[in-house]
Amino acid sequence: MQRASQALVIGGSMAGLLTGRILANHFDQVTIIERDYYPKEPAPRRGIPQSGHFHLLLSRGRKILEQLFPGLQDELVAAGAPLLTPQNETAWFSPAGWAIHFTPDRAGFVSSRDLLDWTIRRRLASFANVRFLEGGTVTGLLANSDHTGVAGAVVRFCDKADSTEEKSLYADLVVDASGKVSKAPQWLQTLGYAPPQEIVINGFFGYASRIYQAKADCPADWHSVFVSTAPPSRTRGGAIFPIEGKRWIVSLGGGDRDYPPTEEAGFLEFAHSLPTPLIYNAIKDAQPLTPISSYRGTENRIRHYDRLSRYPENFVVVGHAACAFNPVYGQGMTVAALSAQILDQCLNQRQPHPDGNLKGLSRQVQQKLAHVHSVAWLFATSQDYRYRGSAGGKPSLVTQLMIQYMDQVLKLITEDADVCQTFLEVVHMIKSPTNFFHPSIVVKAIGQIIKPSLSF
Ligand SMILES: Cc1cc2nc3c(=O)[nH]c(=O)nc-3n(C[C@H](O)[C@H](O)[C@H](O)COP(=O)(O)OP(=O)(O)OC[C@H]3O[C@@H](n4cnc5c(N)ncnc54)[C@H](O)[C@@H]3O)c2cc1C
Repeated sequence: MQRASQALVIGGSMAGLLTGRILANHFDQVTIIERDYYPKEPAPRRGIPQSGHFHLLLSRGRKILEQLFPGLQDELVAAGAPLLTPQNETAWFSPAGWAIHFTPDRAGFVSSRDLLDWTIRRRLASFANVRFLEGGTVTGLLANSDHTGVAGAVVRFCDKADSTEEKSLYADLVVDASGKVSKAPQWLQTLGYAPPQEIVINGFFGYASRIYQAKADCPADWHSVFVSTAPPSRTRGGAIFPIEGKRWIVSLGGGDRDYPPTEEAGFLEFAHSLPTPLIYNAIKDAQPLTPISSYRGTENRIRHYDRLSRYPENFVVVGHAACAFNPVYGQGMTVAALSAQILDQCLNQRQPHPDGNLKGLSRQVQQKLAHVHSVAWLFATSQDYRYRGSAGGKPSLVTQLMIQYMDQVLKLITEDADVCQTFLEVVHMIKSPTNFFHPSIVVKAIGQIIKPSLSF
């Protein structure tokens, strides 16, 4: 009898859940190992301390999640998440000023991160071949018999009474989705592989966030507000968005170590200092429902598994474990969704093999992921490089030229609806950044450069 094929996912946050969903199509049994115990309802947990901060699911991510879990958005809306309609536009104070308003089709989706994770987890748990092992911390990888690849993982289980036991779990494919804290570089070294090259670019951006009761009489003329930073001169930004439960999530952020304070007066003062008073006016007398939480580990960190000359079979690294971005650009969950799609495509291209042989798959996936990472990485780092105190190297000449060119494109989004639309479609990962170089935009951008010299 043919044995059942097994896949193991390390970490059950966004990247792990979406990977698990894809693997359920390809393996007889999928096991997601999560070191936390999941809450029984939408609620924060230790492993995703970022869940109290504003999370925007980009338009591309929203579409992929809907494909993976049909009806997901309706389910979130039924749970109280606000539905985007042409009437409730986001007011976007862009780096160049107020952008032209845009329609929800190009917008993303906002709910609390706790609700989003909980809803996806519940949907995934309904798959007969998916199981969650909670309270399990992966401590290492197991090598296969001829030492060409990974054959499983060592898991330390800690029950709620704090007693521990260690188990070896074997699988045909192991996916690391354990986030930034991933120990995969060390695990690979233990198996005799070189660690991946790691690059870190840090704009020293910090968040402070709080949830408020939404006021019934406000807003009158906006649904949500997003204030972008404009480094190096404008280090501060913020967002106020409605979420389920008739609440507002408010996140303030500052780059270049201009961190928003976490005490009441300082938090309000920071909101007041933004280039528009909309957020401050909304929250100054609103009822807070949570304390103010902060988050500072926002550096961009890429681990180049794709560049290793020797890479193990049957082992893939996805999500923040492979590439983490400054979250202010809202890319993490969408990149996780795109990565799940890539894994699906690569697995679809393989002939089902009776002995579960996936030779060459892991390298192929890692190289395709590198392409997705590079686009998001360029977008995030080209902004973060601009903070005067940023660390981790200087941008290449090409990046510097792109930054200068993008400055001109950004000026156009305050006055040109077509450019604004293209900009948003690129930011929301619906279109490739090459669209910024469409002749119609290049001509307008160059016009921006020569405009001042023509005026006397
Ligand atoms: C402040 C902030 C704001 C953000 N805003 C946005 C946003 O607006 N839009 C967006 O798309 N993304 C945003 N993100 C990113 C988002 O939160 C995602 O979680 C992220 O994309 C990466 O997810 P991940 O699953 O790779 O890792 P994580 O979310 O870090 O999850 C890793 C999981 O692995 C578990 N784990 C770790 N080690 C082990 C182990 N050894 N064994 C077993 N389990 C383990 C952890 O408990 C955790 O559950 C934001 C992030 C931060 C920090």
